[in-house]
Amino acid sequence: MPATIQSPSAEALPRRPCRAVDVGGVRIGGGAPIVIQSMTNTDTADAAATATQVAELSRAGSEIVRITVNNEAAALAVPTIRERLARQGIEIPLVGDFHFNGHRLLGRHPECAAALSKMRINPGNVGKGSRRDPQFTEMIEIACRHELPVRIGVNWGSLDQAVLTRLMDDNARRSPPLPPEAIMREAVVTSALESAARAEAIGLPADRIVLSCKMSGVQDLVAVYRNLAGRCDYALHLGLTEAGMGVPGIVSSSAALAILLQEGVGDTIRVSLTPEPGGTRTREVAVAQQVLQSMGLRDFTPRVTACPGCGRTSSDYFQRLAEQIRHHIDERMPEWRTRYPGVERLRVAVMGCVVNGPGESRHADVGISLPGAGEQPAAPVYVDGEKRVTLKGERIAEEFTAIVEDYIARRFGT
Ligand code: SF4
Repeated sequence: MPATIQSPSAEALPRRPCRAVDVGGVRIGGGAPIVIQSMTNTDTADAAATATQVAELSRAGSEIVRITVNNEAAALAVPTIRERLARQGIEIPLVGDFHFNGHRLLGRHPECAAALSKMRINPGNVGKGSRRDPQFTEMIEIACRHELPVRIGVNWGSLDQAVLTRLMDDNARRSPPLPPEAIMREAVVTSALESAARAEAIGLPADRIVLSCKMSGVQDLVAVYRNLAGRCDYALHLGLTEAGMGVPGIVSSSAALAILLQEGVGDTIRVSLTPEPGGTRTREVAVAQQVLQSMGLRDFTPRVTACPGCGRTSSDYFQRLAEQIRHHIDERMPEWRTRYPGVERLRVAVMGCVVNGPGESRHADVGISLPGAGEQPAAPVYVDGEKRVTLKGERIAEEFTAIVEDYIARRFGT
């Protein structure tokens, strides 16, 4: 079974009450710690490549991974992917992403559904016109038979046009009519809620339903989720869709998620980053972890506080030390995590001069204040708020790293 998700500081912010959903042993909602999800970008039909990427995402900290199931070959590959992961001891829940042909694929390949822990259905993309409702029904009935939870995942880029047209027509009769953006936002929420109600009517229990309404604009996402959160008690999956590449993608995702998480909205998150050519898919998981950790919602790895540096820093030495400590922590974490439970709550400070250095270092578990321009070439080290030693000379980095290692062994060793 997947490891229990720890959340030592999750109680810090009030959370929106909602139903809990069990996804292959991982609990979403109902007060559980916020779960991190990701999605593969391999061809699912290539079972080896997909299993490898799922394993990478899992090792990076993704707790649920979604894979697209877009054709016969992909549906056939799903059980093989599951087996390959099991052989590596990886039990991470897999979610199948289904669209307009999902009912056919799931109908023909029950072994595909059996290998999944959840289905994602986009109600705007299950079939056009008269085919929409029966195809949606077929997929929900399959989910019921396999006792699978379903995420009803609306995406504004593939919004159910029947819902949008109906709301636009209603709006045209208003005096004065609401702006088209308001109707678009309402249509996204309406599509999710009406689809969930339909799924419940077909027989899917409410505690097997997760909703998402993904938008690509920060303000749209915030407005839509505030509306959705107030109108249902389903667990909610959060994510800014098509966030983009690099810094803009990271910042816009973080901004949108932070506002909603601060308001207690969101039970599971994904950061949808476009990887740079040759870049790793796991970056989206690292960003999601940083969002939760920086907000005090979950702890994943020791935090290194470092000042930005300014005209008082005489060299880039403190930057290099901060980087060296970060690198050391990243390298040692796989071992520390098993040997030293709770080590992810460690706080280390690496500061550039005497202005804020001692103060910030005292607030950390272990902190060092390096000498700025014109200061004595000495670096006081603080442990649990007390000055313990002053380091000098060429080996400050090695000696400080040893102090951090020693502190971890004493505090977190069993
Ligand atoms: S701690 Fe010192 S070096 Fe760092 S930013 Fe502040 S004043 Fe500048």
